[in-house]
Amino acid sequence: MPPKIAEVIEHDVCAACGACEAVCPIGAVSVKKAAEIRDPNNLGLYEKGAGYQVCEGCLTCSRICPVVDGFIGDELSNVRKFFGAKSKDNIGSQDGGVTSGILKALFKKGEIDCAVGITRNENWEPEVVLLTSAEDVERTRGTKYTSDPVVAALREAFEKYDRIAVVGVPCQAHAARLIRENVNEKIVIIIGLLCMESFHHEVMLHTIIPDVLKVNVQDIVKMEFTKGKFWVYTKDGEVHSVPIKDVAKYARNPCHHCCDYTSVFADISVGSVGAPDGWNSVFIRTETGEKYFDKVRDEMEIMEDPKPGLELVGKLIDMKRKNNAEHFLEVCKEFSFETGIRNETI
Ligand SMILES: Cc1cc2nc3c(=O)[nH]c(=O)nc-3n(C[C@H](O)[C@H](O)[C@H](O)COP(=O)(O)OP(=O)(O)OC[C@H]3O[C@@H](n4cnc5c(N)ncnc54)[C@H](O)[C@@H]3O)c2cc1C
Ligand code: SF4
Ligand code: SF4
Ligand code: SF4
Repeated sequence: MPPKIAEVIEHDVCAACGACEAVCPIGAVSVKKAAEIRDPNNLGLYEKGAGYQVCEGCLTCSRICPVVDGFIGDELSNVRKFFGAKSKDNIGSQDGGVTSGILKALFKKGEIDCAVGITRNENWEPEVVLLTSAEDVERTRGTKYTSDPVVAALREAFEKYDRIAVVGVPCQAHAARLIRENVNEKIVIIIGLLCMESFHHEVMLHTIIPDVLKVNVQDIVKMEFTKGKFWVYTKDGEVHSVPIKDVAKYARNPCHHCCDYTSVFADISVGSVGAPDGWNSVFIRTETGEKYFDKVRDEMEIMEDPKPGLELVGKLIDMKRKNNAEHFLEVCKEFSFETGIRNETI
């Protein structure tokens, strides 16, 4: 029997989180734009980058795929604490630097020995990397709005390290949680980012930046989606922007089916929406999240009751769902297995 992820791939809703590549015991899957399973009857897939072994049907991947698992009805139901924060050491981060600040402090305190992250070169081509020190964290500061299979890097991390931190967008945080619960307990902390959508590299680098923004990608120092616009900041101090609607249509197809805005499966979620400029919105969701945030709290400035707060976050959760839930439920009807949007608290 083919694994459930074969249907996820077939219907073009694979989020490319990389989890199936991380856990497949024999290396039958590889993830680039989407997962590819090695199928002996379709060797073309191998040429496109599928795994090097033929799938043996163990079904491990069916237990860790976020799309197979489906979504949660009320995303805010597991929020234990919500506040604004910024790292006391925040140079070059996207917002308040809480994400990098947590990782750096945990490395310095000897609480983790590895984290997964994304760095980029001057052409904004991203690369998934394993971080093993506070110094390494510096390379990953800043948001890349392209999609990369961060979770696939756990394959190597599981072989070499014992206490691993994962940072990722909601689909990746969800996958990491499923891996921790079903396959491998070495993930000690999951930091989930907020995420409305992401883009394939070539679309971002060869269409959106040159044709829509009309900017040279090498001149860009920061990209940002906020206040209804996509902004890019260039080395000469100029700021360029276009309405998000001119860009959102280029998002990846799986993102148009995604119903998690705030990383409901993370231990700690971090975003910009809900907090003032230069600060992060922080959502503590699990006991683990509470425990690890307490370990790094002295590295942070905290803002209780930030504005515009959870009300705006709630509006954006609703907007993402309004746009995407119907698409996802349509695809669910095509699946041979049961999934959907569950009304339960996790
Ligand atoms: C695709 C995408 C869409 C987002 N959309 C929203 C949104 O709609 N609303 C909102 O409030 N916030 C959104 N965010 C989150 C926001 O941009 C910041 O990442 C978050 O506020 C943390 O800020 P920081 O200053 O703590 O990050 P930093 O300290 O700068 O750390 C950045 C971290 O993000 C990781 N990272 C960067 N790019 C990626 C990527 N493509 N995939 C996985 N990990 C990555 C890095 O490895 C690093 O650990 C989005 C992030 C991404 C990646
Ligand atoms: S079913 Fe097992 S062997 Fe096949 S791709 Fe999934 S994890 Fe790999
Ligand atoms: S686990 Fe992730 S990469 Fe693999 S099929 Fe599911 S969504 Fe795609
Ligand atoms: S919208 Fe964000 S979380 Fe959802 S599939 Fe796309 S990248 Fe993943």
